[in-house]
Amino acid sequence: ADTLGRAAVGAWFGAFVEKVLAEEPNLTDLDRRAGDGDFGTNMVAALDHVDVAGIRDRYSPATVFESLSDAYLGHAGGTSGALFGVWFRQFYRAAVDAPQGLDTKAIAAAARAGLDTIQELGGAQPGDKTMIDAVDPAVTALESAVEQGKNPADALAEAADAAGHGAEATVGITARRGRASYIGEAARGVVDPGALVLSWFFAEGAQAARS
Ligand code: ADP
Ligand code: MG
Ligand code: MG
Repeated sequence: ADTLGRAAVGAWFGAFVEKVLAEEPNLTDLDRRAGDGDFGTNMVAALDHVDVAGIRDRYSPATVFESLSDAYLGHAGGTSGALFGVWFRQFYRAAVDAPQGLDTKAIAAAARAGLDTIQELGGAQPGDKTMIDAVDPAVTALESAVEQGKNPADALAEAADAAGHGAEATVGITARRGRASYIGEAARGVVDPGALVLSWFFAEGAQAARS
């Protein structure tokens, strides 16, 4: 399909929320090894406030995005609560502008706006071992997919691939931003949990758009 409508967005975000909730112990462990150990708890604190059944079966895309944004901004602690909150807020704005469904261009524009907002708020650059290391290459992939006229499924598959490689690359670097930066070399060898979650975000999108 050339646009993602209610069913695809519901499948995407429902799967994303369930994946993050299921991975809470692993996410907590990663942040314990390279941060302060609250990342999984922060994710669950937000996602416990979303109605997964509503997301899957009833909510409009705009409401799906808004509910995620509100949950993160209103209920999660930590840096990630604010940054994930503004990330989903930009998808909400894109969906309000495209009530007939999200095409590749709208998805790329939302992700670009989300990336810019995360960078304005958090000040991180690529290579700082943060979620930016997953999002930045994903946005580049989405924008080149727009230029090549690709459909959302193919665009998101390329974004997922780029984000996955970006997240994996955080294993090899020490952090310059966030709490992982306080422990220096000890963070090397640990994947950044924020980058990992955003790589799942694009992977679940690719899968939902394909089916
Ligand atoms: P805190 O560091 O406040 O305990 P969390 O543990 O909830 O916050 O979130 C940590 C995640 O947030 C990291 O894995 C990283 O991806 C992301 N992060 C931290 N600081 C920044 C920043 N300045 N810019 C972008 N992402 C960041
Ligand atoms: Mg933390
Ligand atoms: Mg913390």
